[in-house]
Amino acid sequence: MPFTYFIADIHLSEDRPDITQCLMTFLENEAPQADALYVLGDLFEVWIGDDNKTPFNDAIAAAFKQVSKTTPVFFIHGNRDFAIRQEWATQAGMTLLPEQAVIDLYGTPTLISHGDELCTKDIAYQKFRKKSRSWWWPRLMLALPLSYRRKVAENGRKQSKLNQQGLKPEIMDVTPEEVVKAMEHFNVQRMIHGHTHRPAIHALKANGKPATRIVLGDWYDQGSVLKISETEFTLQQRDF
Ligand code: MN
Repeated sequence: MPFTYFIADIHLSEDRPDITQCLMTFLENEAPQADALYVLGDLFEVWIGDDNKTPFNDAIAAAFKQVSKTTPVFFIHGNRDFAIRQEWATQAGMTLLPEQAVIDLYGTPTLISHGDELCTKDIAYQKFRKKSRSWWWPRLMLALPLSYRRKVAENGRKQSKLNQQGLKPEIMDVTPEEVVKAMEHFNVQRMIHGHTHRPAIHALKANGKPATRIVLGDWYDQGSVLKISETEFTLQQRDF
């Protein structure tokens, strides 16, 4: 039966070859069998600009490009890789989608997004989100010399290691009313998102009818994949 894959919150970084290996194996062996592959944000732990050409970033792009020869690949920005632009997307064979998009999944209109826009109780984060998605801030950041952006990213990486000692970041969950609002705005009964690292299938009500919200898992300890066909959907794991 034809099916589609969704992944999010892979948080790729050169520090975590186990994550990279798991994704590469998935892209090579499994993704080509799908009708489409959707990457719903935070593919990378950090993205400092398409001009940051590294062997690592090139290898990831090449792996997605290979998939795209048989299976269309779509990408929605996350809060960590919001600075990915058309240049890298083209290199990776990905189609960039707006931050919220409605797609037809075997006859079911489905709203997809990274999910950070639903976490409205996190005031500090929403402030950052507004700035990071503005027209001016990314331009300002990306206009800084690459060497400087690399240094800032490296310092940030060291700092987060010190602060968290390898712990997962604690992210606030979605605001339930925001979910209903979004589903009613787009008039859909199904939504798929990531970001919260709380993989689950939630039943709720929207538009006065039963609705489903599917939350994708992260890739910190295992690969997390959503497989959807016309008749079923399952959240699956891939071991490192
Ligand atoms: Mn996120």
